[in-house]
Amino acid sequence: MRPYILAENNWKNIKETTYEVGILPWGACEAHNYHLPYGTDIIEADNIASESARLAWEQGAKIIVLPTIPFGVNTGQFDVTLNINMNPSTQLCVLRDVVEVLNRQGIYKLIILNSHGGNDFKTMIRELGLQFPNMFLSSCNWYQAVDQKTFFDHKDDHAGEMETSVIMHLRPELVRPIAEAGDGTAKKFRMKAIQEGWAWAERKWLKVTKDTGVGDHRQATPEKGTRYFAAVTKKVAAFFVDVAKADRNDLYA
Ligand SMILES: [Zn+2]
Repeated sequence: MRPYILAENNWKNIKETTYEVGILPWGACEAHNYHLPYGTDIIEADNIASESARLAWEQGAKIIVLPTIPFGVNTGQFDVTLNINMNPSTQLCVLRDVVEVLNRQGIYKLIILNSHGGNDFKTMIRELGLQFPNMFLSSCNWYQAVDQKTFFDHKDDHAGEMETSVIMHLRPELVRPIAEAGDGTAKKFRMKAIQEGWAWAERKWLKVTKDTGVGDHRQATPEKGTRYFAAVTKKVAAFFVDVAKADRNDLYA
């Protein structure tokens, strides 16, 4: 039993431990080209949360990892079979219920560990922050924690080199041979402002990619995944420790 994983814990142990920070991993259930599993974002969230929590716990941080929420925002992938969409308004309801429990029980810090590009918790955190002023609410995208360029030859967006390498490291038995995968090429919006990144519109996924992949996965290796996973979890653990140590009334320097 790992004392920082809620789903493995028991009432006796929980009663006797004072936890300072809740960690809520948040994934998505969606197709990842032909070679990676639908649970890719869930597997990443589970493993990055638990390994980061292990490292943080060893540094004295009293954190508790809640079960991963398996459904993300997949509104742009409405026509991909069994991509299960959870609307942002539903996510807000789920998040409010979790925050309400933590707030009532005096665990005043929460970190959402986000695993999916379609999820965006910023506006929800703003709204819930007004409602629960004692709570420190934050989110982080683990895939932005370290510069992917240091580890990979091609930038990943979805089921590309990074995600393929990470799943090769975590669950190699679930990765189909690269030869079975689609090429992961994707179209871009014609509008210049969107290409430049300062304007935004949702991509209708199957109009952009044939195989659901967006990113070149051909150079993926388990070794790259192992190195990247270690770097990411070290950095995420440092954030967990910082939040655990932080004084909620003295956050700014
Ligand atoms: Zn993914």
